[in-house]
Amino acid sequence: MTLHEHAELFIGGRYVRPHDPRRTVEVVNPADELPAGSFPTAGPADVDAAVAAARGALDDRAWGGLGPVERSALLVRFADALEMHLPERAALTTLQNGMPINLALATEGADPVGLLRYYAALAGTMPLEETRARLDGLGRTLVTRDPVGVVAAVVPWNFPQTLTMFKLAPALAAGCSVVLKPAPETTLDAYALADAARCAGLPPGVLNVVPGGADVGEHLIAHPGIGKVAFTGSTATGRRIGEVCGSLLRPVSLELGGKSAAILLDDADLEVFVTRLAKVSLLNNGQTCHLSTRILVPRARHDAVAEAVGAVAAALAVGDPMDPATELGPLVSRRQRDRVESCISEAKAVGTSVVTGGGPRPRDRGWFVSPAVFADVDNGAPLAREEVFGPVLALIPYGDVDEAVRIANDSPYGLAGTVWSSDPEHGLAVARRVRTGTIGINDYSIDVGAPFGGIKASGLGRELGPEGLAAFTCPKSIYLAANRPSAD
Ligand code: NAD
Repeated sequence: MTLHEHAELFIGGRYVRPHDPRRTVEVVNPADELPAGSFPTAGPADVDAAVAAARGALDDRAWGGLGPVERSALLVRFADALEMHLPERAALTTLQNGMPINLALATEGADPVGLLRYYAALAGTMPLEETRARLDGLGRTLVTRDPVGVVAAVVPWNFPQTLTMFKLAPALAAGCSVVLKPAPETTLDAYALADAARCAGLPPGVLNVVPGGADVGEHLIAHPGIGKVAFTGSTATGRRIGEVCGSLLRPVSLELGGKSAAILLDDADLEVFVTRLAKVSLLNNGQTCHLSTRILVPRARHDAVAEAVGAVAAALAVGDPMDPATELGPLVSRRQRDRVESCISEAKAVGTSVVTGGGPRPRDRGWFVSPAVFADVDNGAPLAREEVFGPVLALIPYGDVDEAVRIANDSPYGLAGTVWSSDPEHGLAVARRVRTGTIGINDYSIDVGAPFGGIKASGLGRELGPEGLAAFTCPKSIYLAANRPSAD
């Protein structure tokens, strides 16, 4: 296996040596625990240089002077450049975080390309300014939507390229420049992104990459040159970033964790549910923020559903994530594997009924766990309240629909969910009562054209859709006086 060794940072359109080249991080393949590559971490002086380069791009005509149509053309070139290396980029994500390769091709490979094309089209057609007649009749007002400035994009490891592009594509479409801080577990793919940006001819400083951990992130988000912070990650880090941005009065979007509910109604088709279970509840080895990991079941159907869900989980092909036949790969890191294992053993220790899983590790090497399904879980139990971020499901019985909705809403989180019914109207009526940022009926998949995000501990603000583009702009009203004072 080729090692992906990097010695430089991407700042101002060039690869440059860090001020202190001694601080390097090794990336490890979670499937076999062997080295996958390495990169240097940025220090404060490197972050300062990246923010200065990004500011320079905004002030330079080569980027700051472009209109939406010219920016749109550059975004299309960027998409083309990424598309040329789609399989390699997908494999890079699998190498670093263990995502099954078929999923990586469909998401990490294709989604960044689709996102750039979507925002390129939107930037080319969405008016970024309009003139309105004043309500008092005294002339008109020109309302412009200016770029919000230099964006600090801080992203996690689970869908590194896609979640970066959730921010980068609309930010560029709005005319911003970006300093990206990838997660240390998945930084190698950020170099592929930088290569594509260069190859597409993005002007220097429009995209900069400063690898590193929490210290690099802290310095970046608090930097005086930043106009907005766009963050995806854990709720704990989101709260910390929210505090910093609050004290600075700095715009911030926070896409955080979740503990979403699948509500199976009385008339749910169990076959449809189990066919889609792996996608809506276990996607990416259970490391996806919007998964329906609490499965709410009518008491009378509980045992039948438990048996069916357990059978699906137990039959998943666990193995090498580079093998297209694999359905469940390893968790991203030893730390994550240990966390998930301790959630499972704590649930077992308090006597929670195990349907499947929780046995020995499926492989000696690599950070694999067997998927686990628990039945008859109380919604107050840690297993129902805390995000596990691994292949662990909790079945919760309910009496009537009102109780199901109450349980679904009784969560610190509010990101997503699903409702399952043979009657889509009935499903919709229940979905309207669930308090989350997004929800699916008889399936769940994110729509790039519609806002995505959460409420409560799942975050603040929305990404995707036209709302996701507006979030990187700052409205400005320019009052245009009438030519002459009125007669009175
Ligand atoms: P994390 O919060 O530990 O790290 C995320 C990023 O923040 C990393 O780049 C990390 O280096 C950086 N960071 C950490 N501390 C920081 C600080 N104090 N200041 C600035 N940056 C800091 O999260 P993770 O473990 O990498 O990701 C998993 C979490 O992300 C899960 O909780 C998951 O639910 C959440 N997530 C949410 C969404 C969503 O859209 N809502 C999507 C994917 C993942």
